[in-house]
Amino acid sequence: MKKIGIIGAMQEEIEALLEIMTDKVREKKGVLEFYCGKYEGVDIIVVKAGIGKVNAAMCTQCLIDNYKPDAVINVGVAGAINDDLNIGDIVLSTYLQEHDFDVTAFGYEKGVIPRLDSSKFYADKKLVDLAYSFNNDFKEINLHKGVIVSGDVFVSSRGLKDELESKYNAYCAEMEGAAIAHVCYLQNVPFLVIRSMSDKADGNSPKNFDEFVLSSAQNAVRLIKDILSKM
Ligand code: SAH
Repeated sequence: MKKIGIIGAMQEEIEALLEIMTDKVREKKGVLEFYCGKYEGVDIIVVKAGIGKVNAAMCTQCLIDNYKPDAVINVGVAGAINDDLNIGDIVLSTYLQEHDFDVTAFGYEKGVIPRLDSSKFYADKKLVDLAYSFNNDFKEINLHKGVIVSGDVFVSSRGLKDELESKYNAYCAEMEGAAIAHVCYLQNVPFLVIRSMSDKADGNSPKNFDEFVLSSAQNAVRLIKDILSKM
């Protein structure tokens, strides 16, 4: 793979990548600014999508239409759902699901999108394995493979956290990954979501988020650098 699109929702999540990429050129497409350049000989296109599923989906489609990447990686922070996770730890997506999709009135399970082959969007196994191979290099930060759920909601209560764990077996929750995965699935583009925990999706999560967003975002970018260097 030689051309990789990298999407972050917020500036904090892409800042470190923008600093290290070379031959950087900024291209504006509508409201989005794409930064095209290189890292370790790989062509990368880095873009900030904005927060939430609609921004993420729009950005992903625009990225695919304009740059035809070999793969898309979503990098950023998330709230930990699985109690084994600590702030800073990284989750690599096995598959993603939209936890706020609700057609239960017709008997569907929560999170199921009617009239679609699958509502679980699987990440590219080769990318997951490549990312996971750096597990031992991270020392105090643990890498996990697990389900990531997304919805247009900042998860900050024990009730929703427990529901996401029991219904979806979710490792972490965020607000964009499943939308990016959904578009990649429809367009047949391999993808991976990498999220480092900024909080534990509980009553302390707004405070924890503010404290850890930058350091956790940097953990995720560090892993992307490792991945790109082995492509
Ligand atoms: N403080 C920000 C809003 C952050 S929204 C502001 O005022 O602009 C949270 C962002 O981080 C989203 O992009 C989401 O993907 C991720 N995230 C981190 N922790 C989360 C949680 N507990 N629940 C949902 N999304 C979370």
